[in-house]
Amino acid sequence: MPNQPIATVTLVVDAAAPAEDAIQAAAAAIRRGELVAFPTETVYGLGANALDATAVARIFAAKQRPAADPLIVHIAAIEQLALVAAEVPPLALALASAFWPGPLTLVLRRQPIVPPNVSAGRDTVAVRVPAHPVARALCAAAGVPIAAPSANMFTRPSPTEAGHVLEDLSGRIELLLDGGATPIGLESSVLDLTQPQPQLLRPGGLPIEALRQFVPDLEFNPRYVDAHTPEAQAAPGMLLKHYSPRAELRLYAGSAERAGARLLADARQALAAGRRVGALAPDEDAAALRELGVQVVALGPGADLARIGRRIFAGMRALDRAGADLILARGVGRAGLGLAIWDRLVRAAEGRVIDAGD
Ligand code: AMP
Ligand code: MG
Repeated sequence: MPNQPIATVTLVVDAAAPAEDAIQAAAAAIRRGELVAFPTETVYGLGANALDATAVARIFAAKQRPAADPLIVHIAAIEQLALVAAEVPPLALALASAFWPGPLTLVLRRQPIVPPNVSAGRDTVAVRVPAHPVARALCAAAGVPIAAPSANMFTRPSPTEAGHVLEDLSGRIELLLDGGATPIGLESSVLDLTQPQPQLLRPGGLPIEALRQFVPDLEFNPRYVDAHTPEAQAAPGMLLKHYSPRAELRLYAGSAERAGARLLADARQALAAGRRVGALAPDEDAAALRELGVQVVALGPGADLARIGRRIFAGMRALDRAGADLILARGVGRAGLGLAIWDRLVRAAEGRVIDAGD
C-alpha cells in the first residue's frame, strides 16, 4: 500500500533560545509516536521516541534507510545514560564527562528497554547528548530518549539547513523545527567501546586528536563497503555512497599544487566533452575554475576547516540543484576536522579518488 502523504508542519525557532510552546508541541508529537526533524550542532536529525519500536520503524520508512543501519539515541543528560546503556565502563564515563553535550557518539551495550530495531538488531546502542539548544530542549521536554539519524533520504547528503530536510522529507514527517543552519555541519564522531580496543567507526565533529587524550593510540581505519554486500551488515555506517550528490563526484588527492592542476585539466576536458561541471573548491581555486565555465561553490579559505565542514553538504546539494552532472573536489588535509571532511568526500565520490601525487 503506498504511503499517504503527511502534512509536514514547520515551526521556526530561535536557535539559541527556542520558544517553549514550539518545544512542547514537538515533545508531544514525539510522545505520540510522530516524526520530528530538529537541528543539532552536527546536522538535522529525524527524531522519534527511541523506546517505541513502531515510531522507530517509521524513521526507517521515511528515510528509506536499510533496516541494517542502526540509529543514534539522543538523551538530555548524562544521567539518562543508564536507561539506554546496560554497562557504562569508566572510559565511557570519562569521555562523556569531557565531551558531552557535544558531537561524540558512544557505542555501548544496549539496555533491553531500547527496542532492537533502534540498533538494527545488535545488542549495542549508540548514544549521545547533543549540544544544540533546540535538541537539548526537545530531549528534556520529551522525557524519553530520541532516536535520530540524519534527516535526509538514505544516501543523500546530510541536511544542514531546514530547507534540505524539506527537500527530502516533506510529506513524510509530521514536524520540522527550523533553527537555521547547523553550526558544525558534519555528523558526530562515533566511538565503539564494546570491543577490547576502542574503535573509531566514523570521524566527525569531535576531532580524533581530542579523543586521543583518553585513547592515545586511537586510529581511524576506514573499512568502506558497498551497501549491497554482506560486509555492510558487519560495518554499520561504513557504506560508500552514503552522502552523495546525484552528480558523479571525483576527489583529487595530493599536494595542493598537483591536485589543483589535475583538477583544472580534468575540468577543461569534461567541459569540452559537453559535461556540466561543478566544483567544491577552496576560495583560492574558485576564480580559475569559474573562468573555465565551471559552476563553483566556494567553501571558504582552504585553511578554514570549520567553515568548509559547515558548507560541504550544502555545497553538494547546491550543485545538484544547479544541474551539475560532474562535481570535482580537491581533498583537504586530514588533521582536525579535515579527517571527517575527507571521509565524507571519499564516500560521496564512492571511492573515486584521483591521486595527483605530492
Ligand atoms: P546517522 O545518524 O544517520 O549518521 O547514522 C548513525 C550512525 O551511527 C550509523 O550509520 C552508524 O555509523 C552509527 N551507529 C549507530 N548505532 C550503532 C551501533 N549500535 N553500532 C555501531 N554503530 C552504530
Ligand atoms: Mg546519516
